[in-house]
This record gives sequence, C-alpha cells and structure tokens, in this order.
Amino acid sequence: ATPTSIMVGTGRGAELGVLFRKGEALQLLKQAQVVAVDKTGTLTEGRPVLTDLQLADGFDRAGVLAKVAAVEDRSEHPIARAIVSAARQDGLTLPAISAFESVTGFGVRAEVDGVRVEVGADRFMHKLGLDVALFADAARRLGEEGKTPLYAAIDGVLAAIIAVSDPIKHDTRPAIAALHALGLKVVMITGDNRRTGEAIARQLGIDEVVAEVLPEGKVEAVQRLKATHGRLAYVGDGINDAPALAAADVGMAIGTGTDVAIEAADVVLMSGSLQGVPNAIALSKATMGNIG
Ligand code: ADP
Ligand code: MG
Repeated sequence: ATPTSIMVGTGRGAELGVLFRKGEALQLLKQAQVVAVDKTGTLTEGRPVLTDLQLADGFDRAGVLAKVAAVEDRSEHPIARAIVSAARQDGLTLPAISAFESVTGFGVRAEVDGVRVEVGADRFMHKLGLDVALFADAARRLGEEGKTPLYAAIDGVLAAIIAVSDPIKHDTRPAIAALHALGLKVVMITGDNRRTGEAIARQLGIDEVVAEVLPEGKVEAVQRLKATHGRLAYVGDGINDAPALAAADVGMAIGTGTDVAIEAADVVLMSGSLQGVPNAIALSKATMGNIG
C-alpha cells in the first residue's frame, strides 16, 4: 500500500468514526480471518441489572441484599453496580463494612457487622469450599436465559443465587452478520459463565465461545486462536482487555470504553458500536487493494 492510500483510508475511517492510531492496522485488517470479541461492554451495554434473587432456607431478601450490596458498593465491576442499584430500589440502607477484598475473576468479600460476606461466580464458592448444588436447577435456567448467575455466602453458608442480565447492544447482531458476510469467523471471549456466554452467542450467531476465562487467560486464548484460525482482530473495552488488545494482530477498542483499552489498541471505534469493525475491515479491503 502506498502512503497516499493509507492517508485516504485513514481519512475515510475518520468519517466513519473509526480512528486508526497506526497506519499498519489499516493494512493488516484486510487479512483478518477471525474477530475475537469481549462480551461485557462490547457485545452488551455493560450495564447489567439484577433480575433474580433466590434464597436458601433461613435467609431473607432484605438481609441478604443489604449485606451483599454493602460489599459490592466497594467494587468497580458492572455487576456490583447492578446489585447496589437493586438494594437502593428496595429502599435498603447499606451497613458499614470492613476488610474488603476483590478477588479478580472470582468475586468480592468483606466483613459486614462482624459476619463474613462473599459474593461471586460458582468458581469463587468452590474456592471457598462451598457446594452450590442446591441452586443447580436455577443456575441452569438463568444461564440458558443469558443471565449471569452469582452466589452469596454469609458466614460461610450459601445464602442465595442472584442473577444479573446485561442487555445486548441493538447494533451488535447486524455487526456480526456483516462480519460473516465479509467471510470472518467471530469468537466470544468472556470471564462469564459458560452457559451464559453460549446463550448470548446463540442469540447473536457467534461461531465459538471461550468462557470462564480468568483475566490473564484472555491473552492465552488470543494466542491459541491466532495459531488455529489465522490473523486475528480483538475487540474490547475494559482494563482487563488491554493485554489481549496488544497480543492481537489488530487491537480494536470500543471508544466508550476505558482509557487503558484505548491506549492498548491500534484502532478506536469512536461510536462505541461493533459495526465499526466490519466497517474498518471493508475499508481496509477497499483502500489497501490486493497487495499483501
Ligand atoms: P467479565 O469482564 O467477562 O465479567 P471478570 O473477570 O471481570 O470477567 O469476571 C468474571 C466473573 O467473576 C464474573 O462473571 C462474575 O461471576 C465474577 N465477578 C467478578 N467481579 C465480581 C463482583 N464484583 N461481584 C460478583 N461477581 C463478580
Ligand atoms: Mg468488557
């Protein structure tokens, strides 16, 4: 590609809301064979809401929700905001907490009124030696509905299963169809529950799901997909997407995402829409001609 065609392509990208931070990305994109996408905040709004709360015997909703929300009030995770909002909607006052700890990729914990409170994924409960079989049916149903099941433990006893649901962005589905029309494979990479990831993938026509990935695992997944599928573009918005964005052949950040993701990316989708990805690839094909 000539410097002129890169200039023209970059200029057209800007008109489409696609910011090329590196000219090289414009040349590489047309060779992409697979697009790997983060789920939360990229495919979905990243603003989950609490939809379900089912209690174990001997626990009451107000008591559990107030304690869990008090712990989540310290977390930055989108799930945390959903739980705190639900508690406020119920008119609950959040008790004071101490010894807050965030276990990345698992959940959060703290002391509330001298009682240990833990909330997070099933793997967090397993780590604590708690059996979640009591809620197996509920977890299966919630996952199949595309909701994220979470568990709360109070004083080392399983107290509730909680679900949050994160709406899919309205333009995600057509963007995935456009990627397929360009001949690309689309893979979701998520830290979320496998059933939840698969249910959302099914709704969107996504080809493959890598679920229950720990934050460090995203890079590993990217490297594996590069080895098996060829040239890869990664799309993400979060702090924990930065290493994967850097490891991809082309890293593409959602413009409404975190500064850390934007800094790590080669391309920024200013509109915040996944549609920027097929737009950028089509642009690369149109302006970079057929020369490697
Ligand atoms: P993702 O960004 O894909 O959700 P994370 O690594 O941030 O991946 O989280 C993975 C899983 O860990 C979440 O789906 C959730 O089950 C659990 N988790 C993480 N943070 C919290 C939190 N603050 N409260 C409850 N669960 C959490
Ligand atoms: Mg995200």
